[in-house]
Amino acid sequence: MTYIIAEPCLGTCDTSCVEVCPVDCILGPMTVEDLQAVPEDARATKLAEIQMYIDPEECISCGACEPECPVEAIFEEDELPSKWSNYLEKNAEFFENQ
Ligand code: SF4
Ligand code: SF4
Repeated sequence: MTYIIAEPCLGTCDTSCVEVCPVDCILGPMTVEDLQAVPEDARATKLAEIQMYIDPEECISCGACEPECPVEAIFEEDELPSKWSNYLEKNAEFFENQ
């Protein structure tokens, strides 16, 4: 069982979840410092294609990240809405290429 980050993260990507993960298994294509440096009014456009991902091999399903997300992008595997079911694979794929 893992947690998954879905579509609402795109364009927000504020890294709140990263700060609370006890096993540091949330990563993205940019560093946390670079993401946090993007000005508020530029995030929706500059980060439109950017999201964070959870490593399913490392996630201990503690649930700490879920309530931290301002856009409700994080779901336990069993709770992932069917419209975003492809994000299960998307999250795992990001780590296959690391
Ligand atoms: S559920 Fe826990 S271990 Fe998994 S990504 Fe969220 S904070 Fe990290
Ligand atoms: S807290 Fe939500 S919006 Fe922010 S990086 Fe994590 S999943 Fe994305």
